[in-house]
Amino acid sequence: MRNRAIANIVREIDARNIEATIRKLVSFGTRNTLSEQNDPKRGIGAARDWLYAEFLKAAEASNGRMTVEKQSFEQAKAARVPEPTILTNVVATLKGSQPEATDRIYVVSGHYDSMCNSPTDAKCDAPGANDDASGTAAVLEMARVMAKYEFDATIVFMAVAGEEQGLLGSTHFAEQAKQKNWNVDAMFTNDIVGNSLGGNGVRDRDHVRVCSEGVPSNETPAEATTRRSVGGENDSASRQLARFIKETGDAFVPQFKVMMIYRRDRYGRGGDHIPFLERGYPGVRFTEVNEEFRHQHQNVRVENGVQFGDLPEFVDFAYVANVARVNAASLAALGWAPSRPKGVTIVAQRLSNDTELRWDANKEPDLAGYEIVWRETTAAVWTDSKPVGNVTSFTMKGMSKDNYFFGVRSVDKDGNKSPVSYPRPQTRTNN
Ligand SMILES: [Zn+2]
Repeated sequence: MRNRAIANIVREIDARNIEATIRKLVSFGTRNTLSEQNDPKRGIGAARDWLYAEFLKAAEASNGRMTVEKQSFEQAKAARVPEPTILTNVVATLKGSQPEATDRIYVVSGHYDSMCNSPTDAKCDAPGANDDASGTAAVLEMARVMAKYEFDATIVFMAVAGEEQGLLGSTHFAEQAKQKNWNVDAMFTNDIVGNSLGGNGVRDRDHVRVCSEGVPSNETPAEATTRRSVGGENDSASRQLARFIKETGDAFVPQFKVMMIYRRDRYGRGGDHIPFLERGYPGVRFTEVNEEFRHQHQNVRVENGVQFGDLPEFVDFAYVANVARVNAASLAALGWAPSRPKGVTIVAQRLSNDTELRWDANKEPDLAGYEIVWRETTAAVWTDSKPVGNVTSFTMKGMSKDNYFFGVRSVDKDGNKSPVSYPRPQTRTNN
């Protein structure tokens, strides 16, 4: 592990920068996706241009490795888009330096659009301080801090539009990625990550929820048949990603814990990771533990002495900074780790009380080897691991695949570990 570098990244994340970004985004009055695009002071266009300039500033520290673009596209008429509208994602790409890893991409995003009561009201004030200036500010702060570090893999820092219109900006990016055959190895969305006092009266400054799906959104009927036969409904790539984030976050931001939610998002709700999941890219959602619905999607007003509206006075900037730290530590760990092993299988041809695992060799030159991990079938996280050296198969003697879940991860010479790959059954042997 590049422990010191990750610890430095965590320490450099500054709540004051996050506060300044949130207040600046609120100052544009509304960032509704249908609002003014060419007014320099008010509307989503002003926010877009300001974010673009800020990401460019962040890129100055990158020695040319970070590039920034406005990814614009015309969104056709849709349920919450009454007429064709230009949407723009602001995308900062920090290119990885290892030739074998530079095409492996990690995406972290927040949505910079906002809404009041009605998603199609482009005129009302929609400060969106928590939903989602908080996530956008976290991403911008990560870009600022991480731009000067050189990672093996590529990290994309993104502020998307059109979330409130139906995940439109993130869908566009994910679809582009799929069409260009990009190797997006993980996607994090940060959405509503700034309120530490819930509508239930609970103040919790020490946890963040990380939602992950168990069964992949893009699972095929054949894969479902296999899963019913051998298990795996708790072992999607997104679930392995959540476990990786928990392990990394808890290690580097020890006072602030990841609460894994074994569900795609909150109950019946969604976010910008979903278009990625649907296209086969692993993803998770970061969000606060106790929401305050009087401060989401509300016209700014006072009713019976109660302040409604998504105002900056209700955002806990230190809390957002901790969420950003967990994100940044996890992204840095992913960016320096080797790729998770590919082609991992359990040899299921023979009945045996041993478990034989096989996988393809990684291609990184700094690879040290692999670890087998396992847990009992009722355990929530991997509980045990065993280094097995630089090999592409290993047999766990006396441990039956019936009684444990197994996985494989790769490790480089600095000790950086990949997320776990969960094996598929292999019913015929290669030899
Ligand atoms: Zn949101």
